[in-house]
Amino acid sequence: MKVSETFIPTLREVPGDAIIVSHRLMLRAAMIRKLSNGLFAYLPLGLRSFRKVENIIREEMDAIGSLEIKPTVVIPGELWKESGRWEAMGEALLRVKNRLDSDFVVSPTAEEAFTAIVRDELSSYRQLPLSLYQINTKYRDEVRPRYGVMRGREFVMKDAYSYHTNDESLDETYQKMGRAYRRIFKRCGLTVIPVRADSGAMGGTGSEEFMVESEIGDNTLLLCAGNSVASSAGNSVASSAGNSVASSACGYAANVEKAACKPDYTVPASIEAAKAAAVSIPALEKIDTPHVKTIEELCGFLKTDAKKFIKTLIYKAVNVELDLSKAPGCAKLVQRKLAPDAPLVYPEAFFAVTIRGDLDVNEVKLAAILKAAEVMLAADTDVERITGAPVGFAGPVGLTSVPVIADETVTAMSDAVAGALAKDLHYTHVAYGRDFSPWLVTDVRTVVAGDRCPVCGEALYEKKGNELGHIFKLGYKYTKSMRVSYLDENGKSHTPTMGCYGIGLDRTLASAIEEHHDEQGIIWPITIAPFHVIIVPIKYDGAVKTAADSIAAELGKKGIEVLLDDRNERPGVKFNDADLIGIPYRVVVGDKNLAGDTPRVEIKRRAEKENRLVELTKAAEELTELVHRELAELNR
Ligand code: ATP
Ligand code: MG
Repeated sequence: MKVSETFIPTLREVPGDAIIVSHRLMLRAAMIRKLSNGLFAYLPLGLRSFRKVENIIREEMDAIGSLEIKPTVVIPGELWKESGRWEAMGEALLRVKNRLDSDFVVSPTAEEAFTAIVRDELSSYRQLPLSLYQINTKYRDEVRPRYGVMRGREFVMKDAYSYHTNDESLDETYQKMGRAYRRIFKRCGLTVIPVRADSGAMGGTGSEEFMVESEIGDNTLLLCAGNSVASSAGNSVASSAGNSVASSACGYAANVEKAACKPDYTVPASIEAAKAAAVSIPALEKIDTPHVKTIEELCGFLKTDAKKFIKTLIYKAVNVELDLSKAPGCAKLVQRKLAPDAPLVYPEAFFAVTIRGDLDVNEVKLAAILKAAEVMLAADTDVERITGAPVGFAGPVGLTSVPVIADETVTAMSDAVAGALAKDLHYTHVAYGRDFSPWLVTDVRTVVAGDRCPVCGEALYEKKGNELGHIFKLGYKYTKSMRVSYLDENGKSHTPTMGCYGIGLDRTLASAIEEHHDEQGIIWPITIAPFHVIIVPIKYDGAVKTAADSIAAELGKKGIEVLLDDRNERPGVKFNDADLIGIPYRVVVGDKNLAGDTPRVEIKRRAEKENRLVELTKAAEELTELVHRELAELNR
């Protein structure tokens, strides 16, 4: 293809709101243009790369037997009402009405649509397992779309959904997806870190996220010090071929939302044992702590450290599925269904969460334990109502108005300090088991760098990451609420179990640029480059034109994708653009090298500094071999 015949309006300057490299380079290299906040159009060059990512994903999905279908993007609101997400999804869901006043949803994800399709066709266990996918437009009304296509409002996702008669079958497909994802990212030239992720109510190993390391990442990852993640940003030369999945000695890598750690304390065998051990601790004592509210203030006041305090926070949880019928203070809580076949939930419930004073509560873990849609710190007025004291004096002793959830660290504390549910008062000598018994003891701790790996005990360290893909065992959430069933070999009706698996295409493409670029521009992994070779004639005229055309034609015949810069521009301009758009191989055709007995052209790999001369007659053959070799390396 000739540059003059396509549309590559490269830019020297970029708008100030483009902060990250991929956003800047995608604009400058004329891959994308902004239509509005979070809405981007792909121009021809960007679309070519986008389609390559798409094809890699499609090939790998097909290879594991997932079947592509194409549902609509606009989905009947009824389906979302059935699943309960019409209400639960909140503001991110774009709801629209048609001329008949019917409700619709612009798909942010498609569990409902796929499940409705499967429900209508499923009758027998013989049809399962079934794995379906689409590569299709999604819309999420993100509060803060940013970083270009990294977090857009409209984007394209490959989303797959699988249906099974049993957990083993679900696990088999889940594992296959995990392997396919590793191949997809490797083929796109990306170094990903697969991490354990929050799996909501599913627990266990039911969720894995595929992260790329990123300074602007929204996720915090905790990795075992044995983990050898290739440092990557910018140095594409080193990492363009050998990259793939970051490996680890012990293998532990988790999203902070899920991360656990080896206890740095000793847990009593039982609450009775804790109570018995407390005989050696002085009796509970109420002390005056005037104007002392925060842990730091208390530390100063009592001249001790935060590990001695039981921190107590009052949380509000929304749509709690966990059974609270026997929980303190919950007898009068009302329950309701978000949809006719959805489970009963408590629309609103309050909890006191206690944890050792030097630690923070992990709200994602808390929400998973409560099977709640959301948890948030309670408003001051709620705290005052629940604790009977101003904010700052909550504590577990004598607190009966709400269930007390204790992080396990609290059970290992003896002779602790805690709020006394009254203004300017704290308790000292607080002992778990003797002075209070929580409703639930669990792990709600936010793990931080330096905590011990739960697998091998090495220190954990942190990295920021961006999520490119996610695989998830959903279980029965949608198949139950949407009443999907099949008959087993004995004619008995059952509900299938389900998995879902997503990859963001736009974010994958942008992340490849984040990992592979230099000062001059993009350095495409060849598998997703818009073209394999760019031919730059110094002046597209005479013998130079003839030579450039002949190389282009020959390469074209061999299936190599060629961009020919036929513009009447200065060579410097053409070289800069070639570097900017990052085509893996550049061929420069000039008068000087063509003259003489053996006409030559100059070949340069974008990732390398040096160029070399090859004979004109051998150029196409050599380039073909180079391109094929590099493609094979990444696609291996
Ligand atoms: P995030 O936490 O980044 O908002 P998510 O967990 O909500 O993502 P999923 O629902 O798991 O995302 O969607 C699967 C994939 O879709 C993500 O891994 C990501 O690659 C992509 N994706 C999600 N939201 C966006 C967005 N706003 N813009 C671009 N890609 C997105
Ligand atoms: Mg996710």
